[in-house]
Amino acid sequence: MNVHDSEHISGVLEKAGYQRTDLPQEADVVIFNTCSVRKSAEDKVWGALQAISGKGQVVAVCGCMARRLGADIFTRAPRVNLVFGVEELGKIVDLIEMSKNSQVLALGNVDDCEIDSHPTKRNNFLSAWVPISYGCSRFCSYCVVPYVRGRERSRPFSEILAEVDSLASEGTVEVILLGQNVNSYGRDFQEPIGFAEVLDFVASVEGIRRVKFETSHPRDISYSLFEVMRNREEVCPHLHLPFQSGSDRVLKHMRRGYDRQFYLDVINHARELVPGISLTTDIIVGFPGETESDFEDTLALVEEAQFDFAYIFKYSSRENTRAYLLEAELGKISEADKTRRFLEVSRLQDEITERALKRFVGREEEVITLSHAKKGPYVIGRTATNHIVLLPEKDAPIDSLIRARITASGKHALRGEVQELLIPKRVEPLPCAENVLRYSG
Ligand code: SF4
Repeated sequence: MNVHDSEHISGVLEKAGYQRTDLPQEADVVIFNTCSVRKSAEDKVWGALQAISGKGQVVAVCGCMARRLGADIFTRAPRVNLVFGVEELGKIVDLIEMSKNSQVLALGNVDDCEIDSHPTKRNNFLSAWVPISYGCSRFCSYCVVPYVRGRERSRPFSEILAEVDSLASEGTVEVILLGQNVNSYGRDFQEPIGFAEVLDFVASVEGIRRVKFETSHPRDISYSLFEVMRNREEVCPHLHLPFQSGSDRVLKHMRRGYDRQFYLDVINHARELVPGISLTTDIIVGFPGETESDFEDTLALVEEAQFDFAYIFKYSSRENTRAYLLEAELGKISEADKTRRFLEVSRLQDEITERALKRFVGREEEVITLSHAKKGPYVIGRTATNHIVLLPEKDAPIDSLIRARITASGKHALRGEVQELLIPKRVEPLPCAENVLRYSG
């Protein structure tokens, strides 16, 4: 969601004549769009703020840290000129000007956020994020999202469809429907509409070859979703379904609203109804009061579920959440134990992932290339099942749709060779580069 918000920030600034630079020291404005989900994410921002060295620049912080900490950011990082909420995005050019004279704090009502009415400068052309809801009303005990992004508001269906139509007419072939909990979409409407219906409509838009979505909540998922996934070839066979803990006791303290059997039933149905579906998940280790036996339950669930991939996190203490209060009651888990459990579950999942990837070797897959790999002469692309494929950068331009043959599998990714460039990268005209203001983010 933050990545997509940044696309709007870029859109608004570029419409106002700014140009992006990847060299922060050259920028007139440096913007940190921040995440507060874990303490480590915030620590990175504090470190980066210390490292800002350019003179006469406007340094701005927005996103979840801006919402959570407000003016305290100025105290801890006096170099910051502007702290703003993304709901203030429409005023950003004026706010930047104002903050050249004095520090400016601009936080509106998070529930009024209509960020999608602003221009967008998308990172990719063939694949586009399309938000369908904002905020979350689930209030899992460890999570700051309902506090920093507000309660869940569904985006009007007609708006979603109009955006997808417009993207398709410009040549986008993949849309990723975004929400903190896509499965509860539309429950706040007077005439509710289910997520499965939305998916069905979006998949029917001419030109759209792939529809993905994230994130799903096990409690709110409906089996009609799996029917749409099975019946519509445009809907990609991938489901990201966080389970967080395999222990019923911990799940209860997390306020997740399901137990391990409920979760397993959901994924078993998904596999039955959508053959070949790839399943990914999120796991938290070291939640307050998590015993060795609770952790064993998590390991057992990982073994049983055989996920394609898992994002594994150590519990991070977040002030003002219910879990923060539980730390005193249930006991904090030591860093050493959290790390040991993290490594143990990561090792197990790595083995499962490595095994699961082998089934792709020799197959042909359609891959959308998204970015350069950090190491080696490769680009990173994604299959319809959302698996990562590394392709040689000399043959595979970024932002293209490629038919690739999978030649090898590794621990977390596949490697392939290009068979056919199905949709080549679109070449955009270069903007005029004289006398422009530059931004970096
Ligand atoms: S459903 Fe997701 S976003 Fe919502 S409170 Fe729970 S963890 Fe946070």
